[in-house]
Amino acid sequence: MVTSTEFKEDVLALAKEVGVEPKEIHIRAMKKKWGSCSSRGRLTFDKKLLDEPKEARFKVILHELLHLRYPNHGRMFNSMLSTYLKNIDKNK
Ligand SMILES: [Zn+2]
Repeated sequence: MVTSTEFKEDVLALAKEVGVEPKEIHIRAMKKKWGSCSSRGRLTFDKKLLDEPKEARFKVILHELLHLRYPNHGRMFNSMLSTYLKNIDKNK
């Protein structure tokens, strides 16, 4: 379990690794999904994520961050996502 401040710090650290700059990071209760990303660079995460283990959190964070580069779930998106997720496992 992390605080929303810690969560945002993780988002910013991962954003640096991915090489993107989210304009805004919001955490609030969401009903249908863990996170979303607007075309203008605003990321929103479900606050239930704060209770999830690190691996699950990072997966959602990276997913949304990569959308700042790739708007869809194409082949590049998926291969980048699995590359970053592998790196996280290594640094555990
Ligand atoms: Zn997506």
